[in-house]
Amino acid sequence: MVDAIVLGEAELLTIDVLRAIESESCRAKKLDALAKLPHVFVPTHHERLPSVAAVDNVILPAWAPIRTPHTEFSNMFLIETERGCSRGCTYCVMRRSTNGGMRIVPMDEILARIPIDARRVGLVGAAVSDHPKVVDIVNTLAERGCEVGLSSLRPDRLSDEFVGALKRAGYRTLTTAMDGTSERVRESLERRARIKHLIRAAELARVHRMDRLKLYLMVGVPGETDEDIDECTQFVSELSAIVPVALGIAPFCSKRNTPLDRRPYAGIRTIDARLARLRRGLAGRADVRATSAKWAWVEYVLAQGGEAEGLLAMKASREGGSFASYKRAFSELGHNARSEAPPEKKALPILDPVMSS
Ligand code: SF4
Repeated sequence: MVDAIVLGEAELLTIDVLRAIESESCRAKKLDALAKLPHVFVPTHHERLPSVAAVDNVILPAWAPIRTPHTEFSNMFLIETERGCSRGCTYCVMRRSTNGGMRIVPMDEILARIPIDARRVGLVGAAVSDHPKVVDIVNTLAERGCEVGLSSLRPDRLSDEFVGALKRAGYRTLTTAMDGTSERVRESLERRARIKHLIRAAELARVHRMDRLKLYLMVGVPGETDEDIDECTQFVSELSAIVPVALGIAPFCSKRNTPLDRRPYAGIRTIDARLARLRRGLAGRADVRATSAKWAWVEYVLAQGGEAEGLLAMKASREGGSFASYKRAFSELGHNARSEAPPEKKALPILDPVMSS
């Protein structure tokens, strides 16, 4: 349950939000004040979501000045190299229509912000490898003696120079996105990654003596069949002859305001059967790790749901938070974990139309 949600880039808006909260004495007046702010959704006051906030480019980049051993990225200086994405993957909420696509931070500004004593640097963004100067940035940091991590690497951007820079900056595993189980599925997702790019990624990982190539992909994408799984098995077997391969798999869950919005979840049994088929086919040839099909179904219901699902999630959590409690709670609204199509219900709040173009 939330009283208000700031949509989009909140760097500057947060100040107005805090002022609105502090300037009023009671909860009702605070909500009234928040509801008058642009890009702030107050469920008790609004039926539609407002448009998404975007800050001026002069505000970029965001960075995390606090380095500490007590986080997942311990002692790492995190900095944004770009914001948004120029690509159009049909399942993704960051696709080019969000806030005008990709906004690039100039290389000099990025490098000037990184403290000279930073030994670990994380370059953050939806599509870091699409930055036109990414190789120069990584090479410069490697020369400074920094270990560098990138939050995303697109396989069609990998080159000998780029992977060499990553190796110098401490990479041991080359991690990139395969996205779909077959070329046909990847095309349906409007991904630019193609077989030739993935083969090249495997070859570059071997040339630069990486320990392994790690590939992320989804199963249960709309239209996927067992034939696509078999193509995946065949293809990954070929890659594993070049370099050791690990797969990180997530079941497909459609997200609001994307072209694949409202597409059904494949179902827990189907996902588990496809994962088992993949594991059988790749036994001894690739490490296959997948997130749970059951919990992906919970994620799907929450991603597609509205207030009623939110309240039932709270109920399930109070009843222990097991999968059985979520299944029981969501069944009250007609959600079925075996074969999930979104149940008919009243229209959910929608974003500005530009978001779903
Ligand atoms: S999946 Fe990645 S490359 Fe595709 S639109 Fe989203 S952020 Fe961009």
